[in-house]
Amino acid sequence: MTNHCQYCSKRIPISKVFCSADCKESFFQKIAISVPKPFVKKLYFFCSEEQRDSEIKSFAQRHNWHEKLVTEKIEEIFQEYYRCG
Ligand SMILES: [Zn+2]
Repeated sequence: MTNHCQYCSKRIPISKVFCSADCKESFFQKIAISVPKPFVKKLYFFCSEEQRDSEIKSFAQRHNWHEKLVTEKIEEIFQEYYRCG
């Protein structure tokens, strides 16, 4: 039996939860990131792609979070709340 890394979904031994220390750190950082839903909505419905990128960048910088993780989190929220409904 195998497990999957909670962050990147790579196959790992059943005794482990993450495949690497990086994944573990990213996972917990991402949990700590909170993005207001109206902000996500604004990014997708009222911003161009360029505006979206710079909004995400300044949002990440203001809170001192990794831009990549913030982007992932925003995409998840968008998929969850706005994609099909
Ligand atoms: Zn991983």
